[in-house]
Amino acid sequence: MNILIKNGTIITSSDIFDGDIYIKGEKIDGLGESINLPADEVIDAKGKYVIPGGIDVHTHFQLPVKGTVSADGFESGSRAAACGGVTTFIDFAHQVPGESPMKALDERIEEAKNDVYIDYGLHLGISDFNKNVLKEIPIYIERGVPSFKLYMIYAKEGWMSNDATIYAMLEAVREQGGLVIIHAENPYIIDMFTDRMIDEGKLDVKWHPVSRPNFVEAEAIKRALYLTEVTGSRIYIVHTSTAEGVALVAEAKGRGVMALAETCPQYLVLNDDTYLRDDGYLFLTSPPLRKVKDQLALWKGLSMGAIQVVSTDTCTFTREQKEPGKDDFTKLPGGIAGIETLIPMVHSEGVLKGRISLNQWVDLISTNPAKLFGLHPAKGTLAPGSDADIVIFDPEKKVKLLPENLHYVVDYSPYDRMTVTGWPYITMSRGKTIYRDGEFMGEKGRGKFIPRYYAD
Ligand SMILES: [Zn+2]
Repeated sequence: MNILIKNGTIITSSDIFDGDIYIKGEKIDGLGESINLPADEVIDAKGKYVIPGGIDVHTHFQLPVKGTVSADGFESGSRAAACGGVTTFIDFAHQVPGESPMKALDERIEEAKNDVYIDYGLHLGISDFNKNVLKEIPIYIERGVPSFKLYMIYAKEGWMSNDATIYAMLEAVREQGGLVIIHAENPYIIDMFTDRMIDEGKLDVKWHPVSRPNFVEAEAIKRALYLTEVTGSRIYIVHTSTAEGVALVAEAKGRGVMALAETCPQYLVLNDDTYLRDDGYLFLTSPPLRKVKDQLALWKGLSMGAIQVVSTDTCTFTREQKEPGKDDFTKLPGGIAGIETLIPMVHSEGVLKGRISLNQWVDLISTNPAKLFGLHPAKGTLAPGSDADIVIFDPEKKVKLLPENLHYVVDYSPYDRMTVTGWPYITMSRGKTIYRDGEFMGEKGRGKFIPRYYAD
């Protein structure tokens, strides 16, 4: 099947021009100012943007947490993604302590296989580091899983890596290729503050950010960057949330440290006043929502290139699942929805508010994630030979971000007080239209596990 997209404004991370795109089967065949070739379907994209499909490199679908499992699984999560213009996501396979990460990887692929509507990759979560794990690193890289997630927190869950593990993993990926990605917060200080909150009976969710002040993230980022520097390796810091964190990453880059970082929409558009809402407990995330000054620093970090990616850390729990922690934040499973609103949000709050350019928008939500995680040039760009993962985006469509307008299982929207300007008109995954003008038409199980490789 051949498709011709006519008269769109084609935007990549480096170009903007009015023109056409010709799709043959699952791939882009050509693009130019005017293409006149026979096609099975011609789509008029006049007045619309044509961009590469979004890539969300940080999701937690059907993740077991605190005795429950995140509500949106591979099926509803990838459906919501498609409706918001995301055509690839990267989730996690978490090693079970005492077992090989290989087992977790095989099981996770099996879990996702029949449910996904769009393509996906996996990071490997390392929770029980040992010599065998170290030996297996080349095998994971060979299998297309070259990114390894380490948590500096979550001792009780059994996921925490100590400094020696971080050092050894950084050293290993420097030798073998690959990338360490890290959740940077200081667990001991969080525990101390949390104990204080418990002793003082400060269990309302508004105390959650007080139990994890900015320096808790900054200290851990600083430590991770230092270990990266002494190993001569590179690192990717997930969900950077503080002004201090951005400054540390920017400063390390300035010294030549290979420091990469992402932030997420919740840190860009929500702040800790949200915890004062009656339903504030629904919004618990770790790191917590911060202050307006942090938001401003994060936007600046995006525009200056200190932060290269906006991902979502989507991890949803229904009202019912959050309910047991309503009056005790220490019992709340952390996480909110974000994948469906990622692309419209960064457009509406970033581009339309003059904080980033259209090219930067595409870079932050598609091209950079593709490049940093080994998906480029098959994904993350519009070029002959690339997968036809394409979003035709209506820059004027307004959508109020109420749960009934979104496609998650979770029954509330973290952005229910916001309206975005700009929404996908069509989402295409490998040449197939899976969302069109409010209607989802994906085919369950069509999404593929995509092995990811870094060019040498
Ligand atoms: Zn996460």
